[in-house]
This record gives sequence, C-alpha cells and structure tokens, in this order.
Amino acid sequence: MARIDVGILGATGMVGQQFVALLARHPWFRVAWLGASERSAGKKYRDAAAWRLSALLPDEVANLDVQAATPSASAPQLVFSGLDSSVAGEIEGAFAQAGHTIVSNSKNYRMESDVPLLIPEVNGDHLALLKAQASRGWKGRIVTNPNCSTVVLSMALAPLRQFGLTKVTITTLQAISGAGYPGVPSWDILGNVIPFIDGEEQKIETETRKILGCVTANKVEPHPVVISAQTTRVAVQNGHTESISAAFDHRPAEDDLIAAWTTFKALDGLPSAPAQPIVYLRDRNRPQPALDVHRGDGMTVTVGRLRPCPILDYKFIALGHNTIRGAAGVAILNAELMHREGLL
Ligand code: NAP
Repeated sequence: MARIDVGILGATGMVGQQFVALLARHPWFRVAWLGASERSAGKKYRDAAAWRLSALLPDEVANLDVQAATPSASAPQLVFSGLDSSVAGEIEGAFAQAGHTIVSNSKNYRMESDVPLLIPEVNGDHLALLKAQASRGWKGRIVTNPNCSTVVLSMALAPLRQFGLTKVTITTLQAISGAGYPGVPSWDILGNVIPFIDGEEQKIETETRKILGCVTANKVEPHPVVISAQTTRVAVQNGHTESISAAFDHRPAEDDLIAAWTTFKALDGLPSAPAQPIVYLRDRNRPQPALDVHRGDGMTVTVGRLRPCPILDYKFIALGHNTIRGAAGVAILNAELMHREGLL
C-alpha cells in the first residue's frame, strides 16, 4: 500500500520530534510536511530542531524545509499537532476549517463536547462525536489525545471500571521531557522535586472522567469517579510515574484487579498498538522509569505494587512513556484507528 502523506505542526518541539522518530518507520504514514513558528520557518528541519532523541534523525526529514504554521495547499490532509497550547487553538482551528484532519496533543479542544479525547484501547467508540463536529462548518475535523499523565492514569483505571470505580487519589512524579524543550532549567530540577505543574491537576481530574465516560446522543456522559490529583516534576528524562489509590462500590479481590489489567484487550491490526497495553509486574520495586519506560516500544503502561489501602480500597503504581504513549505514539494510534474506520 502507498504510504499516506502526513504533516506535523510543532514539528521542532519535544512531541514533534517524537512524531518524526515514530513515523520514520511507519508502514502507513510518511512525513511530507513540517510546520513550526516563524523562528523555524524557512530553515531545514535539521537546523531548526534541537534534536534530543537517541533515535537518529531520519535523513529524509532532516532535509525538509520547515513551513509557517498556516494552512496551505502544500500541507497534507492529515496533520498531527504538537503545537504549544498558547497558539494551538487558533492554528488547529484554521487547519480544520481549511479541510485538514488534525490529530492533536494540545489541550485547547480536548474538553469541547464535539471533540473526541481518545485512547484507542479505552474509548475508540468516542470517534462517534465527530458527527457533531459537522455543525461547526469546518471542512475538516479535530481529534485529540489526553494530557500525558492523564493517559497513564486512564489506562490504569479503564479495566477497573467493571468493579464500580468511585474515588481515586493520584500523586504524579513527572519527567522533564513533559515540559517540552528546553523545559525546566537544570538549576531548578537537579537534586530537586517541584511540587507544581501549571494546570496539570485540573486536566487529570477532568479529562480522565471524559475518557472513561460513555457516548450517548453524540455527547459524553463523564464517568462518575471523583479524582483528586497532586502533580510533581522530578529529575527523570522520560516516563511519568503515578502513585494511585482507588475505591470501588464492591471491593474486588487483588487477583481480580491484576487479571483485569493483564487481560485488557489489545487492538489487532494497528501498527502502533502494543501486543499488551498494560503489563503488571510482581517485583516489589517496579515499575521504574529507567527499567520499564520502553516496554511495548513506549506504548505499554506498566503497573505494580498493588496492595490494600487503609483509606480507600487499593493502592498501586503506574508508569508510562509521556512523549510516546502520552503524546505522539497515542496520536499516531488515533490516526491509525481513524484510517481503519474510514475516517481519513
Ligand atoms: P515544545 O517542545 O515547547 O514545542 C512546541 C512547538 O510549538 C515547537 O515546535 C514550536 O516551534 C511550536 N510553536 C511555538 N510557538 C509557535 C507559534 N507562534 N507558531 C507556530 N508554532 C509555534 O512543547 P512539547 O513538549 O513538544 O509540547 C507540545 C504540545 O503537546 C503542548 O501543547 C503540550 O502541552 C502537549 N503535550 C506535551 C507532552 C510532553 O510529554 N512533552 C505530552 C502530551 C501533550 P519553534 O521550535 O519554531 O518555536
């Protein structure tokens, strides 16, 4: 099959680079267009992007010219976005209006009632919301993926909905790559923990309920679970670790929770879908970012340390790669699902 040309808005940033790396070996999509700010427009990608990934920058992308982030005939129909949220609302809207399908990482459209906030294994059926976007008068459409820490939490909680999930508390330990590049100054993060990430707690508390919710009459009925989040930034390069407690209507057995995670269904036939979306480790000191973040090529969420909680019912640790499962990887999986559903 001929590969489909795709564009990347915000191609020079942390998430944009991850798109470039993951798409370099993609069987369905081929990077043909790159957009970023006026600081980068007109430069070769290799000169505009401060490449920070251990994967080599692919030659065919290194030599592409970066374009201004405005809709144009040269931009492909399918455009991934890793734009800074201060500009994503306006730019992504303009691309959707001009007929592009935008698959976005930014927060701007996530909570709009007609915009799917997707993790394909969890709520692929939320693509049904796209029908409601027709009334915006756009020629194109926007699909979003959640905030990086929300993806990890939502994946860990999705298999537990069957037990009547009622309350969740979460404290995150988030990697510096989650703050973009150059991100947090080394002086502030080395040997330190920063107990504040602007807007993050609210995103976790609201986005998770939309993702775990049900679509009825073209809108999402949010899941009733109540979530209390605290977020911290730690001196880890990649991988958000989350310390989670949960309460249920009827307290399940520990083995039932573990079985729910380990049997959580993978998606067949989508190139970026890991064979096992959630892995449970029984070792007492796992998961760890240094050892577990690359499981499933960065698309698997690793859970461990399940034990009783004296306040809620159970507590456990979850870990996921923030720029792969939490950003570019899940966005590519969203586009793969849309392609399979005939929505591209
Ligand atoms: P980043 O490293 O700061 O990159 C931001 C990108 O936006 C760059 O390509 C930048 O281009 C572009 N940009 C900035 N101002 C622009 C303008 N006025 N016009 C056009 N392009 C402009 O940020 P990031 O970490 O990749 O995050 C990108 C988005 O994804 C954000 O909305 C973030 O919240 C979201 N997100 C990030 C993560 C993560 O783990 N990092 C996870 C999930 C979601 P220049 O290089 O030309 O300035």
